Amino acid sequence: MPAEVEQITPVQALERQRRGALLIDVREDDERAGGMPEGAVGIARATLAQRVSGLAPRHDQPLLTICATGNRSLLAASTLRQLGYADVASVSGGFRRWQSDGLPVAAGAFDADAADRYSRHLLLPEVGASGQVKLGKARVALIGAGGLGSPAALYLAAAGVGTLTLVDDDKVEKSNLQRQILHADARIGMAKTDSASITLAGLNPRVRVEARNERLRAANVEALIRDHDVVIDGADNFPTRYLLDAACRQLSLPLVYGAVHRFTGQVSVFDARRPDSPCYRCLFPEPPAAEDAPNCAQAGVLGVLPGIIGLLQASEAIKLILDIGKPLVGRLLCFDALAATFRELRLPRDPQCPGCGSDAVFGGYEDVQQICAH
Ligand SMILES: [Zn+2]
Repeated sequence: MPAEVEQITPVQALERQRRGALLIDVREDDERAGGMPEGAVGIARATLAQRVSGLAPRHDQPLLTICATGNRSLLAASTLRQLGYADVASVSGGFRRWQSDGLPVAAGAFDADAADRYSRHLLLPEVGASGQVKLGKARVALIGAGGLGSPAALYLAAAGVGTLTLVDDDKVEKSNLQRQILHADARIGMAKTDSASITLAGLNPRVRVEARNERLRAANVEALIRDHDVVIDGADNFPTRYLLDAACRQLSLPLVYGAVHRFTGQVSVFDARRPDSPCYRCLFPEPPAAEDAPNCAQAGVLGVLPGIIGLLQASEAIKLILDIGKPLVGRLLCFDALAATFRELRLPRDPQCPGCGSDAVFGGYEDVQQICAH
């Protein structure tokens, strides 16, 4: 005898879904291609028994099933009960009634690959199916495919960010491999953007990588970052940082800043969309003299350090895309690896800032590039 299954209306299902229940559309892939309930995960009934544990590892996860009219979902729900799931209900009337009740429908819903791949995200109410769709539509520009860009790109690709634009004109060198884990010994001499594309495609073939094998300059900075949702600063030089800061302000884009030096690193978010947000030049009004600001090639850096800072940048980028949590706006997070401490400094907007202050004048990107030449 099949275990008895509760049947609920689509409206009740939507309520439970909003409280964290996972709605599984058990129709076939081609049936779901025409749309499915918003936030639902599609797994055909024949593969449900073998796939569900990947999606719901805990047997107390509330599950809902839906099909076209409510018959197959009843059988699927019964299967789930037999597999040990305690809280299962089937949607009576199925997707047909869901639609006629005017409930939200998503086009181009998850296929089985995406449902599996992102199952741990789908379990989080703060991400869930709608968050995963946002990630899939998001475009993130990573400036630098080096120490900071490597961990950030890897985890953003793994998380399902739809498009990653990588801007870097360097080639892979042996001395990079101590920390730039996007690359590989066998690819020494290859353009970093090409090497990165290979690694990222291997990790998540769904992600689109746009490789820009060029140096970011006054002439191309806007074109390189325009039409993105978030920009990640993984640069190793001041002209790039000052140009990025200016362009993100002009284009009103959030900039996730990160920097490393020997055993320490820092992270912050400069969000030009917010009137209260500082910018990079609130922190560093003018570039320091070259001898006061040695780069990693001169000063050295502990290999794991950019990994930690780059991942904090990736975490901030994902929060910005999903609009969850509290971004590092107005705060500078400093990490000291030797002391194993995090310290948070207040970073208010500076009314006298030469970048975003009330008297600041934007004289074009060539001017910004010039201030770094002195
Ligand atoms: Zn500023």
